[in-house]
Amino acid sequence: MIDYFLNILSGMWSLLSGMALTIRTFFKPNVTLQYPDERWTMHERFRGRVHMPLDPVSGAHKCTLCMMCVKICPNASLEIVPGLNEQGKRVLDKYIYKLSTCTLCELCVESCNFDAIQMNHDYEMSTFNRQDLTLVLNEPYRWEKEKGWATPDPKPAAAAS
Ligand code: SF4
Ligand code: SF4
Repeated sequence: MIDYFLNILSGMWSLLSGMALTIRTFFKPNVTLQYPDERWTMHERFRGRVHMPLDPVSGAHKCTLCMMCVKICPNASLEIVPGLNEQGKRVLDKYIYKLSTCTLCELCVESCNFDAIQMNHDYEMSTFNRQDLTLVLNEPYRWEKEKGWATPDPKPAAAAS
């Protein structure tokens, strides 16, 4: 008999505790976002993926083809394809970045003496197509365009020495 009433009291106590918790959290600010309508603002030092910023006016990059980033990358995720401009000068044709093997260690960014590459805040990088994970950073980037995050279209590589 006593157990019967103790069980009732215990049930009521747990019901009231749960309701108290619900009421307390109901008036607190939300900690979740209504994704994808809302998105996180990442911390300044968040490492999304490697990105090659381009000058908004000229569309030029700062890469000097010194190859430091390629040499330091522990996963061989970077490849530089040089080309020649009209004056016969060696210029960047393609800066190839394999996101599929990149561990986002940031060594390449730290090794660059010309601030030609950065880690950006992109955190929506999943894809059904593995080929989408190979990016040419000195060319307009499809995902960025689709998301409205596009960097300015660069001029032809020959102009961006
Ligand atoms: S991105 Fe920087 S480190 Fe890499 S080749 Fe260009 S200038 Fe050199
Ligand atoms: S972040 Fe690290 S793994 Fe990724 S490309 Fe740069 S050096 Fe390579």
